Amino acid sequence: MPITKYGLTAALVAAALTTLPMTSAVAAPEAAPAPGHWVLTDLYASPSAWQAAFGQTQDAIKALPELADTLTDDPATLADGLARIDDVHKRLARVATYAHLAADIDLRAADAQERRGRVDRLQADFGQATGFVEPALVGLGADTLKEWAAKPVLAEQAYYLRHVADQAPHTLTRETESALAALSPIAGQSDTFDLLSNADIAWPSVTLGGESRTLDQAAYTQWRADPDRATRQKVFEAFWSTYNQYEDTFGSLLNQAVYGHVIDARLHHYDSALAAALAANDIPVAVYHQLIDSVDGHLDTLHRYLKLQARLLGVDQLHYYDIYPPLVAAPREFNLSDAKTLLEQATRPLGTAYTRHITAATSAPWTSAYPAPGKRPGAYMNGSAYDVHPYVLMNFQGDYESVSTYAHEWGHGVHSMLANAAQPYATADYPIFTAEVASTTNEALLIDHMIDNADTRQEKLFYIGQALESLRGTFFRQAQFAEFELALHEAAEAGKSLSGKRISALYKEILDRYYGVADGMTAIDKRMAIEWAYVPHFYYNFYVYQYATSIAAGEYFASRILAGDTDVRDAYLAALSAGGSASGYDILKNAGVDLATAAPYNQLIQRMNELMDQAEDLLDKRQG
Ligand SMILES: [Zn+2]
Repeated sequence: MPITKYGLTAALVAAALTTLPMTSAVAAPEAAPAPGHWVLTDLYASPSAWQAAFGQTQDAIKALPELADTLTDDPATLADGLARIDDVHKRLARVATYAHLAADIDLRAADAQERRGRVDRLQADFGQATGFVEPALVGLGADTLKEWAAKPVLAEQAYYLRHVADQAPHTLTRETESALAALSPIAGQSDTFDLLSNADIAWPSVTLGGESRTLDQAAYTQWRADPDRATRQKVFEAFWSTYNQYEDTFGSLLNQAVYGHVIDARLHHYDSALAAALAANDIPVAVYHQLIDSVDGHLDTLHRYLKLQARLLGVDQLHYYDIYPPLVAAPREFNLSDAKTLLEQATRPLGTAYTRHITAATSAPWTSAYPAPGKRPGAYMNGSAYDVHPYVLMNFQGDYESVSTYAHEWGHGVHSMLANAAQPYATADYPIFTAEVASTTNEALLIDHMIDNADTRQEKLFYIGQALESLRGTFFRQAQFAEFELALHEAAEAGKSLSGKRISALYKEILDRYYGVADGMTAIDKRMAIEWAYVPHFYYNFYVYQYATSIAAGEYFASRILAGDTDVRDAYLAALSAGGSASGYDILKNAGVDLATAAPYNQLIQRMNELMDQAEDLLDKRQG
């Protein structure tokens, strides 16, 4: 199975997958570098300087295939060849960063969009020009590869070479891999899914807030959290009834994607689609099974949270459409300067070196903070320009979620700063498996700081509610998705046909179990069984479990660091500095979090119960 070392960086992939909230038309100040605006001149002084770098990179990529004949002649030649490829990749990443950032700041600017298109094609050219590398390495044989990996001249490439050696029994001939790669764009179904979801669905018109509105995905995300219960119910019924009209087509698409994963795994001699997907990222299958076992064993904690939610909303019977409204009204608004101060204060337990990085990053013009006409929605961090510094794009709305997003993205940013400072380019780029740990640890430190410093009971209750909802949404919901994804693939592997109806039945069984439907904990309308059709991540081949493992690791690090454990703090910072020098699983295990064992998940469950103890105390006092 091909290893995507020279593909998209993990940081960029993580960025692409963050949820996209609604933009609002708040005007941003014009002058740069005013606070909240980034300047791209650290990357290139001007578009013409970028153009020159683009041309040089293009020439360097064209010349790479000349390495093919001699690459594996001896260890020193291999080291030189891989170093040259890495150097070209580093230049390409900087060229791409500028093009992507400039394009995202105004999606209407034709010249910036054109530069982005050229960079995307150049990245594809790089993939083709280096397509000979892994077949050549596999051709050496796993034993020789491992022997060479131990040589000092190849020290920077040691982890990569060992990983290629481990994958060698699963790598087919060059012709077969090329044929499979050529077919992959039509095998994934993800583009068709996007078109159906974003362009073709006929969204219903619903009267909301006294106005007739088109209930598309963005409107659904906004109105499902409305404080008025009848509105939420109306929104759920209209939105999911619409999805149900497309059950057969969504089912066919997902069935084909799942069968694609299953066939690909079989062709590459894996026992299962799960084993194939996790091996590509060097993560043991035991992690996945442990996560599901741990969550299934602690559903009573989720049910306790649902009871608390019903109490706070003042409803006798909780419905699925009651999940999203905030439990307590927001106490205040924030500006960007508040966010910066709060992030500095909250991350102080990480030590003075971390604080220096945070202060440097948030004082410099490296963040595009505010919504603006034409700007890309959502939030991301881009740390791909190795010799420069990270950039963060977000759409600050003034609510607590914006402050939390700022802490999240700069968690990614400081991760990149630490990894880029400590690692050579070859091992700086960290995997998704550790990326979301850096961001969720910051989120956990921030929310703890907010709970500790709340002035009133009501304010404290608000932040506890935010912490609990993030544990439900990122731990339980993503684990539920992971369990569903595994059940789908296992059904396909057992030869069962997966129609839309069959997929809905499978989804509903797991959903009902998580939300305690049999015990009357939550009432869930049967139309909700289609919810799977809304989730693009099911096309990413065993991706979502990493959100759940990451928040478990993040909660562990945050709680130990807040308890003053400096050994854990230093181990955590070392894990961030390790970048991509080992498997994400091993990096976290070395830092004390073994995600193939129950301990980190138990710790998260304990934290969730402590938060609920606090919330119930506050409520009893309020009522008493
Ligand atoms: Zn993230």
